Amino acid sequence: MRIILLGAPGSGKGTQSQLLVRKYGIPQVSTGDLLRAARAKGTGLGLAVRAAMDSGQLVSDEIVLGIIRERLAEPDARPGFILDGFPRNLEQARALDELLSRLGQPLDAVALMEVNYAELTRRIAGRRTCRACGAVFNVLTSPPPAGATCPASGAAHELYQRPDDREETVAERLKVYEEKTRPLADFYAQRGLLHRIDAEGDVESVARRLEAALGELAAGSAPARTPPRPAPRRRKARAASRARGLVKRAKRSKKASRGKRKPATTRRTTATPRRRTALKTARPRRRR
Ligand code: ADP
Repeated sequence: MRIILLGAPGSGKGTQSQLLVRKYGIPQVSTGDLLRAARAKGTGLGLAVRAAMDSGQLVSDEIVLGIIRERLAEPDARPGFILDGFPRNLEQARALDELLSRLGQPLDAVALMEVNYAELTRRIAGRRTCRACGAVFNVLTSPPPAGATCPASGAAHELYQRPDDREETVAERLKVYEEKTRPLADFYAQRGLLHRIDAEGDVESVARRLEAALGELAAGSAPARTPPRPAPRRRKARAASRARGLVKRAKRSKKASRGKRKPATTRRTTATPRRRTALKTARPRRRR
């Protein structure tokens, strides 16, 4: 199952992703987490990431797309993934479409987590993360249970507030969401992929609503611990039909820009001029 959780900061994408990971056994791919890891390295790239994040702006598409391409190429993402915090603007959504078309792995669904503004700011104000295991809590609504220990350190969770969760940055992040990310709802609605989820209320109720929306898709896929491996012939037929669907969809969505682009065969050639010359002048193979 390949899904996107779309929603404002504080809408519960991370929390619900963690539940879906457990239920379906597919990885959560959070650009926020990946960027925080890049930032922690303190390299040139890390500094650029830090500047954007701390001011509530989006990190450049170039950096984010590079990170996503690498992550989705990892073997654990092959059976499916939950994208959390990506895409965040139309350019990223289009790039993702292209990437998944190339991989022959179209999206199954996009869940839009809807929460009102006052609730969002309240949730973000209380959000705390454990430094050791990365679990996310909310000191106002869902603190760690009394006596709970961190699975990574064996001691009590060591909670900290993300720098970009401070009040002055949150307003900017919500503004960026409205301007750049919310338009993605239409983008995916037009493709028939969007499910609107009422994401207010407690974690379990939201999880139930989300699962009801994803239920149909999930019915066709079992948890990864017992992955259903269709017979090779069925796999091929399925891949072929998916590819046909993709071609149709790609044709429709690229109709406008197609005229300006070179045909795929020319773009994807791996033969450099030097290699082409070498190919031409290569000695013919001896006949047996
Ligand atoms: P939230 O969803 O609560 O805003 P995230 O952890 O997803 O939290 O993101 C934190 C910050 O990381 C964002 O404010 C932004 O600066 C950066 N970021 C995360 N994902 C992306 C993305 N897809 N494109 C650009 N920047 C991103």
